[in-house]
Amino acid sequence: MRVWFLSSEVAPYAKTGGLGDVAAALPKALAALGHEVHTVTPLHAATTEAGFELAPGPRFSTTFGADTFDWETATDGDVWFLRSGDLFDGPVYGEGTSEGLRYAAFTQAAVALADVVGFAPDVVHANDWPTALAPLYVAPAGPTAVLTIHNLGYQGIFDPAIRDRLGVEPSRLVDDPLGRGVGFLATGLVSADVVTTVSPTYAREIQTPEAGLGLDSILRAREVVGILNGIDTTVWNPRIDPRIPFHYSERSLWRKEWDKRALLERLGLAYRRHVPVVGMVSRLVSQKGIDLLPGPITHFLDTWDVRVVFLGSGDAHYERMLAELVAHRPEHASFQAGYDEDLSHLIEAGADVFLMPSLYEPCGLNQMYSLAYGTAPVVRRVGGLADTVRHFDPDTGEGTGFVFEHYSAEGLGWALGRALDLHTDRRAWTRLQRNAMAEDNSWERRAGEYARVYRRATTRRQR
Ligand code: ADP
Repeated sequence: MRVWFLSSEVAPYAKTGGLGDVAAALPKALAALGHEVHTVTPLHAATTEAGFELAPGPRFSTTFGADTFDWETATDGDVWFLRSGDLFDGPVYGEGTSEGLRYAAFTQAAVALADVVGFAPDVVHANDWPTALAPLYVAPAGPTAVLTIHNLGYQGIFDPAIRDRLGVEPSRLVDDPLGRGVGFLATGLVSADVVTTVSPTYAREIQTPEAGLGLDSILRAREVVGILNGIDTTVWNPRIDPRIPFHYSERSLWRKEWDKRALLERLGLAYRRHVPVVGMVSRLVSQKGIDLLPGPITHFLDTWDVRVVFLGSGDAHYERMLAELVAHRPEHASFQAGYDEDLSHLIEAGADVFLMPSLYEPCGLNQMYSLAYGTAPVVRRVGGLADTVRHFDPDTGEGTGFVFEHYSAEGLGWALGRALDLHTDRRAWTRLQRNAMAEDNSWERRAGEYARVYRRATTRRQR
């Protein structure tokens, strides 16, 4: 397949979240399967400032509504960058109507660039609201338009006055069903040939009024294909991870204990052989279930010899909440505020249990990292967490983690209690760790699923 992949962010050039990682990893994995994939992204100020060496490409112009845009292009391998004036000189997102206009202008130009460079794609793959108008800019007999939802929480809703400025027939634009304006994501969901999202369970959830955030009726009228994200096994792999002091595999799990000692030493917490360590690395926002933590964590700090380590940044009131929580037992609990890539790897390696009690979770990456590191995830049965973690059954020895149902402190406390109980049984725990480490969450497999979707949609369109 020949794929033209559009994304507002691509790691490492510019990244604000999971989309950046997917936009870097999926095209690479598709290319490794023999597909020809090119990615197009804005040349953000952040990319220029980071000093990436890009090769200059052709210039071209587009007519966008009443405006003409002159575009400069640059490349790095299979990634194309587009720049016009100061459109992308600010932060990646933000700034109201002008944000809608610049991403629409970018999307139109990104589609046109394929022609400019003589690439005839079978598929144009758009991602989230910033590039969701791509199906409107693709020629009627042109490539198949695929749109992937990475987080329904961001929909790109703009003042109705934007309608006449986007260079498309205004009647093709779809109003936000909750009446807040013109919806870029809503429009893409109606116009794309195929809609996908990042886990099968999230695909079902967003078709319900409870989780559909106003778009559920549009989504129910379509097929939504759920394909899990993958993890980069050259980066998140305890056999080779350069960010952890001791490497280990499923056959040398005793070395994980050495990483635990290193983790606790780094954080100034008391080490004891086989003491259970509970870890969490997260953006501190309500989506991630931070509100559920105080009750169960205080309870287990009071009643067990356990260590608890948090790493995260985000809402100030959650930062205060965690700081107070660990102050309860400073020798046994630690909270590091901020973003720290090295520490996040050391927590995955050194912890026994990893917490992800999310309110909602389109896919989630950390629980998959935990599985790869033989660290038992404690998760709520929601979105991608439900699809990637199986509750451990001591009778059969099957399962990879601990799963609770209801969004409540009791639910989290129950699952964490099961985890700490099982941890006292060395044999059962080793069994769980080996099950977890044997899970295949590699991108290679997931890219194959995307290729099948592309092929199916393209054949359907040609008929
Ligand atoms: P989301 O994209 O909703 O934040 P994911 O679990 O899909 O959640 O991905 C989060 C990614 O960001 C993971 O790679 C995680 O390790 C990383 N991360 C989040 N917060 C921090 C932090 N404070 N320090 C280091 N890495 C972090």
